[in-house]
Amino acid sequence: MRMKRIIMMIVTGLLIGTIQNAQANTIKIVATHSILGDMAQQVGGDRVQVTTLVRVDRDPHTYEPTPADVRHLRDAKIVIMNGLGLEGWMDRLISSSGFQGKLVVASKGVTPRTMTEDDQTIPDPHAWNNAANGMIYVHNIIQALVETDPEQAQSYRSRGDRYLEELQQLDLWASRTMQAVPVQKRKVLISHDAFGYFGDAYGLTFLSPLGISTESEPSAGEIAQLIKQIRQEKIEVYFLESSNDPRIVQQLGKATGARAGGTLFVEALSGPSGPAPNYAQMFRHNVEQLKKVMLAP
Ligand SMILES: [Zn+2]
Repeated sequence: MRMKRIIMMIVTGLLIGTIQNAQANTIKIVATHSILGDMAQQVGGDRVQVTTLVRVDRDPHTYEPTPADVRHLRDAKIVIMNGLGLEGWMDRLISSSGFQGKLVVASKGVTPRTMTEDDQTIPDPHAWNNAANGMIYVHNIIQALVETDPEQAQSYRSRGDRYLEELQQLDLWASRTMQAVPVQKRKVLISHDAFGYFGDAYGLTFLSPLGISTESEPSAGEIAQLIKQIRQEKIEVYFLESSNDPRIVQQLGKATGARAGGTLFVEALSGPSGPAPNYAQMFRHNVEQLKKVMLAP
């Protein structure tokens, strides 16, 4: 009896040791937002341990880092950020954490859209909403993992290639799906300018009251101008965004008679049981939701 117990203890000890070793050997990655976190997980599989700073359903523009974020960065081998001005809070976080690893700007290599706001030309950060740009992000993440953990290069490349293939199919499918919608119906109102890359790639026009960032608020004059434009362009539907305040766009819908088209996931995933638990499903959900609503009589 006693012998049995001793054997059990040894076996349990060995098991715990194995689990601890496996965890110790994984690459710690911090991603600023949930879309980037998912991409890193898709490429890294069980070789990586991913922490996402801006959680699902949250707004990355207005995020305020926490003391736990500082610790996560300090311990990370790789930090993945979007770049193009999305994470205005990131430089300070990096310097206060003493992060020593590899910093990946996932949008590196993307041709940026630019916009003029308050007489300044600024880049549009929402590049992932074009799946072809999503592929550039994934290439950058594969590269970073291969350089950081060359022993597992083969695994990252083969997982990454399969994922890239999936995204390429999504990109082609989105083009075909949107082309099936008559051009005059491909006009939509959303809360902020998060779908410029999507519109350019798949042939839609998006109007929004908030500009590129959710931090600014439109003036009464800008709202009046937008109402005029919505009527002139005969925009019939508006969408809410999962990660920010719906009130302005709802008021515009009311003022112009545009009808509600549901929710789009523009810069944050949903929780695991929602319609956008990963980047590929988020993209698919957005395309399907847009098509369904635009084609409704
Ligand atoms: Zn945004």
